[in-house]
Amino acid sequence: MDMKKITIAIDGYSSCGKSTLAKQLAKELHYIFIDSGAMYRGITLFALQNDCISDEEVNSKKLIPLLDGIELHFQLNPKTNSPELQLNGKNVEGEIRTPKISSLVSKISSIREVREKLVKEQRKMGQSGGIVMDGRDIGSVVFPNAELKIFVTAEIETRTERRFSELSEKGIATTREEVQKNLIERDHLDSTRAMSPLKQTEDAIVIDNTHISREEQLKVAIGLVEDILLAK
Ligand code: C5P
Repeated sequence: MDMKKITIAIDGYSSCGKSTLAKQLAKELHYIFIDSGAMYRGITLFALQNDCISDEEVNSKKLIPLLDGIELHFQLNPKTNSPELQLNGKNVEGEIRTPKISSLVSKISSIREVREKLVKEQRKMGQSGGIVMDGRDIGSVVFPNAELKIFVTAEIETRTERRFSELSEKGIATTREEVQKNLIERDHLDSTRAMSPLKQTEDAIVIDNTHISREEQLKVAIGLVEDILLAK
């Protein structure tokens, strides 16, 4: 498909395969892939490292003035062919995926100043189109004019199993119960926060991948892209 490059927004609940789909689509289309959740995780790691979190409570008064000094960018790992998050020049891809970060990230992502900073950076990354970005507010806030918006869902049991296997493969000790509790908590906080809550926009196309494989899901998404490109 050698045509105009569009913007693709992928949103959905935690661990429903958004990043997997976004990454596959970007590879197929030769687009940029941005996992916006990694950026919120990066700020969470920074807050932990700079004593802006104690007893699970975020000290936003301390964090907000430090936000301007946080530099986030993605660098391609040539071995895995995946972009990895760099926080102030240091690769933090492993550190941002731990259960500790998962348990705190929704508190950080509800802070207005954090969202303003990241949305600004995300829009800059996508200003020329040819981007697939996944997250919670991509179709609703970051790229409301995206040509294609996909809302991915899957049943909670399926999402739990997938995240549990992912963490186990990385050697991170956890239980299915802990994983499920975190997913439910994050979904609740992310959908009910005041600023840019996770929601399915009216123009989004829903893909429920509970009973389909990654390959089938990709095929559906490619079909949607082709329809849009052919209609242009
Ligand atoms: O996608 P991932 O699960 O890594 O996202 C981690 C967290 O970052 C989410 O639970 C949510 O709190 C926050 N997030 C967000 N807006 C986005 C992407 C992620 O609020 N666009």
